[in-house]
Amino acid sequence: MRRLYTIGEALIDFIPTEKGKKLKDINGFEPQVGGAPANVAAAHAILGGESHLLTQLGTDAFGDRILELLESKGVHTDYITRTRQANTGLAFVSLDDTGNRDFSFYRNPSADLLYDESAVSDIEFHKADLLHFCSVDLVESDMKETHRVVIEKVREAGGTVVFDPNIRLPLWEDENACREAVREFMKFADIVKVSDEELEFITGIQDESDAVSALFADHVETVIYTKGPSGSEIIYREGGYCEHPGYEVETVDTTGAGDAFIGAVLYQLSSNTKPVMEILRENGPEVLRFANAVGALSTTRKGAITSIPVPDEIDAFTSSI
Ligand code: ATP
Repeated sequence: MRRLYTIGEALIDFIPTEKGKKLKDINGFEPQVGGAPANVAAAHAILGGESHLLTQLGTDAFGDRILELLESKGVHTDYITRTRQANTGLAFVSLDDTGNRDFSFYRNPSADLLYDESAVSDIEFHKADLLHFCSVDLVESDMKETHRVVIEKVREAGGTVVFDPNIRLPLWEDENACREAVREFMKFADIVKVSDEELEFITGIQDESDAVSALFADHVETVIYTKGPSGSEIIYREGGYCEHPGYEVETVDTTGAGDAFIGAVLYQLSSNTKPVMEILRENGPEVLRFANAVGALSTTRKGAITSIPVPDEIDAFTSSI
């Protein structure tokens, strides 16, 4: 069993209790633990994998809530530090009638951005390890530098680096700053997960297949491309691809669908002893089928972590189709 490390933000998503309103008009919100790296670590743990989250929380009630939920889902929290210097990050979300979102973030800076590299100095990474990261915590900060340190250590150890840009423009000074950071860090990844909504923004290329080709920078061997309700594809550097059309479900809230999806892909990698690229090459369709089922099911409930299905639910769902 491979270990998964995720690095980046863990925060509270305030999900609206009413749908179809603009953020400014919403009267009620429900707190849900979120932040893509936390969601991915939780999804991987819920499915049965070993997950370690690298982040920092404030010494506030929201930090307590996040820690409690992650522990209850089986995420290893040994490298989660706490600070009095800043609060735990918050994100207020609005949902339109189809479950799509708008965000307002409260992190000036939040505790995660102050995560110092000293917190990870005693981790010994191995060849079998998987590292997952996103772009939200690549804004100028101690956390960005800690990403560099961790990525370098994992690469040196021969581990596999997975990057899900997960673009949130309101966090950046301007679009270019975000695009530059994404392009810079893409070069350190072996696997890139990108959604249809992000592809043109990152590459600046309109044609879908040319844009996907442009993602094969430096080490990138595989691109995993998600298309919301239309499923997903795996595209290989040496040519060829596989796809799965996804599942039709009654969607309530898409928050964290992409995180549940990639958490499921990572579980397919961590629970198999074959080399990672061989699994993606030989078992690609099965990896996508499983991850699409997990992603689709996660949209049928509110929240990012509380919506992740357990293995029995996934079996029942896929065998009912
Ligand atoms: P997010 O940023 O919302 O977490 P994402 O944009 O990274 O997600 P998506 O492509 O929206 O990623 O979704 C990831 C996967 O989740 C899809 O490939 C699909 O399997 C599943 N999924 C997402 N939305 C739906 C939906 N409405 N119905 C069924 N499956 C869905």
